[in-house]
Amino acid sequence: MENRLNNLYSLQIIDSQLQEVHDLKGDLPAIVEELEENVNKLKLKIKELNTTIKQLKISRDNADLEIIDLAEKIKKYKSQQLNVKSNKQYDALTKEIDAADKKSEKLEIELEIAEGRMEIAKKDVEIFAKEFETEGEELDERRKELREVSKEHEKEELKLKHEREKMVVRIDKADLEKYERIRKAKGGVAVVPIKRNACGGCFSRVPPQKTLEIRQNSRFYTCEHCGRILVSDHIVSLSKKQ
Ligand SMILES: [Zn+2]
Repeated sequence: MENRLNNLYSLQIIDSQLQEVHDLKGDLPAIVEELEENVNKLKLKIKELNTTIKQLKISRDNADLEIIDLAEKIKKYKSQQLNVKSNKQYDALTKEIDAADKKSEKLEIELEIAEGRMEIAKKDVEIFAKEFETEGEELDERRKELREVSKEHEKEELKLKHEREKMVVRIDKADLEKYERIRKAKGGVAVVPIKRNACGGCFSRVPPQKTLEIRQNSRFYTCEHCGRILVSDHIVSLSKKQ
């Protein structure tokens, strides 16, 4: 039993050190992740807008060509009207001219709409491109910071992770599950020593009788208030010797 308590307390020390290393990185990993997401979103938006602009340009150019084409037709019909032999022929040409005029007007409207939409899309691209640039610069900077901080503590982190792996295999599966459950619920601290008759986690008083029992290291005792596993000074001194 003493061994089981000792192993759990040793694991706690390793985990607390890992937490310290992790805390040194602060919010950087989360900031970098968020920036990456934003930059990717902006990139996609710009790409979509550029596709839209391309499509609008094609329809505008097509309308433009068709309008020129119609104008030529109208010109041709008008010159034909000068040489017709009958009223019927003349009226038929007038009809053609009217139809071409109407179609041309409709195309002009379409062309204007396409141009308006293009202008809006181009302005949006400008706005997003600026955002993309700013966010991209920020991302580069934050990534660099994170790399530097990570590099500084890389060796220590690796050493601790290795120690953790070695310790974990020595711990009973049920004990480990209990430990992880408490650790997750209690801000990373599952095993605490008793300090001056109080829980080292929440500082609630531990009754003297319980303190005596805990000193026997014969079973698990948890704090009545915070639920963390309490260990005696003896266990603490054992892990210091390691
Ligand atoms: Zn407690």
